[in-house]
Parts: sequence; structure tokens; C-alpha cells
Amino acid sequence: MDHPSSPAKYIFVTGGVASSLGKGIISASLAKLLQARGYSVTIQKFDPYINVDPGTLNPYEHGECYVTEDGAETDLDLGHYERFLNIPTSQANNVTTGRIYKSVIEKERRGDYLGKTVQIIPHITDEIKHRMKLLGESGRYEFVITEIGGTVGDIESLPYIEAIRQLRLELGSKNCLVIHLTLIPYLAAAGELKTKPTQHSVKLFLEHGVQPDIIVCRTEHPLGNDLKRKIGLFCNVNEHSVIESRDASSIYDVPLMMEEEALDKEVLEKLQMPGTTAPDLQSWKEFLHKLKNPGSTVKMAIVGKYIELKDAYKSIAEAFIHAGTANNVKVVLEWIHSEKINAENAATLFNGINGILVAPGFGERGIEGKIEAIRYARENKIPFLGICLGMQCAVIEFARNVLHLEGAHSTEMAKNTAYPVIHLQDTQKKVTQKGGTMRLGAYPCHLEPQSLAYSIYGRKEISERHRHRYEFNNEFLGQFKAAGMLASGVHPEKGLVEIVEVKNHPWFVGVQFHPEYKSTVDCPHPLFVSFVKAAFDYLVGTSIEKKAQKHGAAEAV
Ligand code: GLN
Repeated sequence: MDHPSSPAKYIFVTGGVASSLGKGIISASLAKLLQARGYSVTIQKFDPYINVDPGTLNPYEHGECYVTEDGAETDLDLGHYERFLNIPTSQANNVTTGRIYKSVIEKERRGDYLGKTVQIIPHITDEIKHRMKLLGESGRYEFVITEIGGTVGDIESLPYIEAIRQLRLELGSKNCLVIHLTLIPYLAAAGELKTKPTQHSVKLFLEHGVQPDIIVCRTEHPLGNDLKRKIGLFCNVNEHSVIESRDASSIYDVPLMMEEEALDKEVLEKLQMPGTTAPDLQSWKEFLHKLKNPGSTVKMAIVGKYIELKDAYKSIAEAFIHAGTANNVKVVLEWIHSEKINAENAATLFNGINGILVAPGFGERGIEGKIEAIRYARENKIPFLGICLGMQCAVIEFARNVLHLEGAHSTEMAKNTAYPVIHLQDTQKKVTQKGGTMRLGAYPCHLEPQSLAYSIYGRKEISERHRHRYEFNNEFLGQFKAAGMLASGVHPEKGLVEIVEVKNHPWFVGVQFHPEYKSTVDCPHPLFVSFVKAAFDYLVGTSIEKKAQKHGAAEAV
């Protein structure tokens, strides 16, 4: 069959055998390698669940909800894509079954199907294919990598697998390629790696009409050529199309490991793309070198209520890695459950901590612990960063303990508080639906020239991403200012307070936006870089103080 020449090459990444094998990281790593060869690449994620987007999901379900520039609430894998590629994603980069069905049902209601019976095949699959090709058709990308959530064999994934089958036929194998990521378990008792689950997973894939072109095998031990040959033989691929993916100490190692395994070369050959020189990974390697050879260590506390699941704060943890590397220090994260903090134990819990971050969140649970952590940071001059709810708690803490507005609160937690220092935004007052209705995405922010924020960003106008309904209540602005809490960043037209900082403190910043979403390997976020630097200075300061005290004590003896 003669295939039309496609504006973009489509690469699908599916999973088999088990979930959580790291499809997102493999996709981002391959994208990085192609980008480092000079190609334009984007990555998109298709999730087979019925929520229209992950915005309504509790973080315990799927981890953090990542927000794009254009205000889409998306899967956390989009965060990895941006951190690896340093290019923004958008609403189009994350599609769920809910979104697909929603648009098909809306079309049906409009009468677009002209009386036809609306079915999974072809209507749902056509909608999936349309979305799969959307970014490729924009003409902006030479490669579109599509990660399919879930595992082959799940009932929910079937329409996606069918859409891939059809697309392969339509576009031809030089424009469309499937990478299947599987697990090769190690049986300790037998001392052996087992390939059978992978064979079964590929068989299942074949039953749905798709032969994967490349098999990436997640393994704790080296596969060796014999196993690669065996997997190739049973799964119908050449042995160099079997790629070993060993457990890595850092996700940022994976692009180099995939380069070593020649995943990018294999992909380019199969898609008949012109051979280029090796990928230029110089700056990536420099980052890794710094990451692995830190000068010293700082300890940062993350205070939140979802800490049992580290993925709930994924972008924050990654932003700390970028900022640590920029400062030549290793950032050790101490996760502290906000429900456990009180006035009596704060000193013990934060002993040895060089910086405190209070995380974003929703609702009442753990709120008093967050406020207590902030009081401790403010009074003891420990560097502090509050993000979104963390910033709002900093405002509440200041109102209660410095302005002595007893019972001051956010109306999110206490509707009838006498001092609503945080209250619902005007634009939110008529909102009744939950999904996609917060203040979302990038908004401009104007910085006060004499502020810490201005000295950190080095410019007056910034733009950051938001996800919230409540805001600083400007009726209290004068009181706060007079007592030493400044609004150092404000939305230029609406006057919404986006950044607060406390004077007479070495580093105390609360931000209504989420700086963590914009931190990448190439561009660590300036706020995180400065926060880690402040924590390092605090560490140096406290150890000098301790030495002096010891010295003084020795002299006194
Ligand atoms: N619950 C707060 C609000 O909606 C903060 C949100 C957040 O931390 N992302 O304004």
C-alpha cells in the first residue's frame, strides 16, 4: 500500500506485564535523545480512565495533578515531559477516555452523526485517532510520542490499542512505530530472569492486531544477548529491537542508558529517518555530573498531608533536584506529615532542618500543623517557602500571631471566621462545577522593585502557573504591610496578591502560584534555586554559631 507522507512520525509507547514500569520516563528519555539530535519532538499521554481530566482526582489516586501553561489539569507524566524537554505542553498533550466520550456524546447531541448508531468502533476510535494526530498535524513536530496509560490487556485500553492498529495501517510502518515496555522479573530462588510474562503480553497485543516493533525490558539484572535473542524470537522482533532498561539511581540517567542501548538509533532506522550524528547531550551530562558530585548536603522539610504518596508532590521533589544541582548541593527531603505537627513537637521535628516548604493542598485536614510549621520557620528565621495553600497558611499564621487577629482563617476552612484573611475569589463565587473551574494556568505577575522576589527573578514582570479558588483578602493588605508582611508580587490588572514575603527574616516567601511546574533540567526555577541557597547559608550560619558556642563553652571551662 502506498502511504501518504505524514507531516510527523508517530511513536506509541505501551506497557505490559505490570504498571508503574516507567513508560513516562522511557517516553521522555527517547524524546530527549531525538531532541538532542536536532529533531522537534512532543509527547502526549492518553489515559484510559473516565474522568475528563485528573483535576477531580484525589492525589492519593494518581499522584500530583500537573498544570500546563494553558491551564489544563493533567497527568503528572506531563511534568516529566516538560522537565526533560524544556518545552511547554498544553491541553492537547493529555487526553482521557472521559474527554473522548464527552466530545463524541456532544457531537451525537448536535446531530453530527446524521442518524447513525454511535459505536466504539468507528466513532470512539476515530475520535481517539483524531486526537492522536492533532499535534502531529500542527506541523510543529517531526516526532509525536504517545504514551498510553495502563497495560495492554486492560478492558479500558482496548479502544486505544484498536486505534493504534488502525493508524499503523493508515500511516504505514515508516510513519508509525510501537514500543512495548514490559517487566522481566527476577526469580531469586531460581536465580533467573523470566521472559514468559513478556511473551504473554506480546501475544495479547498480537491478539488485538498489533505487533510491537521494539520491546523495552525493565529489569533489575542485565539481560545479556542470549535473553535478548530469546525475547526477540518469541516476540517476533529482531534482537536489537530488544532494549534493556535497568533500574536507575536517578530518572535523569535514563536518556543516557537508552542511548547506550541505541533505542534512538533503532527508532530512527525503523522510521527511515536520515541518520544524523550522535545526540548532543553535553549539558545533560554536566547536569548529571553535578547531581552525582554535590559539594555538601542541605535538609529540607516538606510539610504536607499527602506525604505517604511521594508522587503527590512530584514536581516539588524534582524542582529541588534541579535547584540542588544548580547550587552544587544534595537536597535531602524530610517528609513531615502536617497532621503530626504541634507547638510542642515542632522544635524536635524540625531539628537539623535547613529550610521548610509548606505544600499546596485543599481542605481542613492538617491545616493547624501547617500553620504551626510556618510559625516555627518565621520565629526561628529558618528559610521558608509556602506554595499555594502553603502561602495562604503563611498569611493566616501572620494574621493570628503577629496581627493578633484571633481565629483568622481562610473561608475555605472556616466560612464564618471574624477575620477572613483568605477568601474566595470573586470569579469563583458563581462556580458550581468542580472540574476545570479553578483559576488555572499561567497569569502575569508584577514584582515590587524593592523585594526579595524581584532580586530573585531579576525582572519586574513574571508569569507563573496557578491552581486555586481562594486568594489573599485585600481588605487586610494595609495591616499586613504595616506589620512587615509585603505583597511583593501582584496580578497587574486585578491586584490579586501572588507573592508575600516577611521583612526581618532571611528568606520567607509565600507564592499563590506553583513555581514547581516550571522547573526543568535546563532551567531550574529561580525561587527554588534561591530557597536552596538560603537553606545552605542557614546551614553554614548555624554550624558557625554551634562552633562558636562550643568554643565559648570550652573557654568558660
Ligand atoms: N485550597 C486552596 C485554594 O483553592 C489552595 C489550592 C492549592 O494549594 N493548590 O485556593
